[in-house]
Amino acid sequence: MSKKSLLLSFVPLFLLFLFLPVSVHAYQTGYVDTNGSLLVRDSANTESPVVGSLVDRQTIEYLDVGNGWGQITYHGRTGYVSLDYITETGVDAVEDTDAQDTVVHEEAESPPLNGAPLGSIQRIVLDPGHGGQDPGAVVNNFYEKEITLDIANRAAAYLTDAGYNVSLTRSNDSFIALDDRADYANGTSADIFISIHANASFDLDANGIETYYAPGSAAGQTLAHALQSEAVREIDMRDRGVLPSNYVVLRKTAMPAALIEFGFMTNEYDRSLQQTDLMRDQSARAILRAVQSL
Ligand SMILES: [Zn+2]
Repeated sequence: MSKKSLLLSFVPLFLLFLFLPVSVHAYQTGYVDTNGSLLVRDSANTESPVVGSLVDRQTIEYLDVGNGWGQITYHGRTGYVSLDYITETGVDAVEDTDAQDTVVHEEAESPPLNGAPLGSIQRIVLDPGHGGQDPGAVVNNFYEKEITLDIANRAAAYLTDAGYNVSLTRSNDSFIALDDRADYANGTSADIFISIHANASFDLDANGIETYYAPGSAAGQTLAHALQSEAVREIDMRDRGVLPSNYVVLRKTAMPAALIEFGFMTNEYDRSLQQTDLMRDQSARAILRAVQSL
């Protein structure tokens, strides 16, 4: 298929990206008010390519650029949405880049809850990314929410067989807000939290596996390294390494947590593997081996 035929839509994992400063302007806040999803476009016109989508009720920060279009920061780049589907909730009191930097900085500096050391691991929460109205990345008819659940279910079976106590933030195609995922995990006595995702990029050549942990969480970093090294050992994909990130499910979980991206759905090679039972089984086995290695 041609690259242009790829239908991409990304749903942000967390809203912090949207609050990153772009320039010195007054940002407005609002939420997506539509029955379905709201398309994010490359430029402020309806002929412009679609670069992703936002889900209904998602809160955004945007700049009114006129003619009914709002500029947002979307996955680290600039995107545009029709303001016909945005209900304004206020003008951001923070109007200059420096002050916004401070807000972001403070959030990054606050000590993560999940800084406790890794003890003996008995109880694990697996978090299949996305679900329900939030499909995650979508490439043609391939949905991130489907592969994340499949890998999580397979991993849960392996871990249970190995004697671990496993629970999942979702076990079917339901929408669970990011905060609710962290709250759920915090309501259990889980020793670790593993969030399962597949990646997407505007760069169709981007490929490979990467794993994230909350900045400052040494135990989260150890968990992330274990997942990453077992995943690249099992799966024939590129090793993109381990990185800190302020994802909500990493920041708000009280136990050591990691988020693994099992390859890029937007990359033809990675996607060809992701669509096989073999790769999903390898992913699940990598999670088991990582837990056993801790
Ligand atoms: Zn995802």
